[in-house]
Amino acid sequence: MEYLFENVKENIYVLAIWDSKWNSYNNCYFIVQEDGITLIDSCKEEHSSYLVQALKLLGKTPEDVTLVLATHGHEDHVQGTVLFKNAKKYIHQQERSLIVYPEPDEFHFELTDRGLIQEFDYFWVGHHTPGSLAFYHKPSRVLFTGDFLCFFGDPLSKDGLVSVGNDLRHEWLEFLRKGGVAKVQLNDFLQGLKAMNTFKVDVMCSGHGGVLVGEIESFISELLHAGKQLQEIHVDK
Ligand SMILES: [Zn+2]
Ligand SMILES: [Zn+2]
Repeated sequence: MEYLFENVKENIYVLAIWDSKWNSYNNCYFIVQEDGITLIDSCKEEHSSYLVQALKLLGKTPEDVTLVLATHGHEDHVQGTVLFKNAKKYIHQQERSLIVYPEPDEFHFELTDRGLIQEFDYFWVGHHTPGSLAFYHKPSRVLFTGDFLCFFGDPLSKDGLVSVGNDLRHEWLEFLRKGGVAKVQLNDFLQGLKAMNTFKVDVMCSGHGGVLVGEIESFISELLHAGKQLQEIHVDK
């Protein structure tokens, strides 16, 4: 199995490509609107043919993609953008130095720490890379978290790619409790989670692996609670 392409909600689709070099799924997302397709992240250039196949399944071509939003500048989130000649491409201004390929000038560096671009609220999450952003698609209440909160290197949930994913939630909580987020980054990470919980989220789409459906607020709250407990331990020491 090389890739999965599934409906997330309404007109939103996930493409999860198995990357055997990294032992992980790399995800990107298609939002199909009347006036064009928006892509959130774009995978590596070597995975471009999968993006073309996914568009074909939607009856579309790369020319139909009009907007590309990158959560951050790592190769598995920006390289595939070379396919989309008709698209305006946006990323946070602090990610410029991370972009090796394509030419950074392919992107507009107009996104700041919080704002609105078309139907998407975006906000800075302060963790993973200097300018990592999350995008919230208001009409569908779907949140795109990039690698700030993802399942890099994890198998998919036993319930499937797009599912409640209780097993994945449990694993992330355990990862956090065991110190998976470095002490020095914990405060920024918790601030990012707090920002996330100001939105009403039905589905959480991450940069790698599982797409979580339902009870997102309680999952984020559990992470916040576990993170705060860790901070208290650090203060006590
Ligand atoms: Zn990354
Ligand atoms: Zn990534």
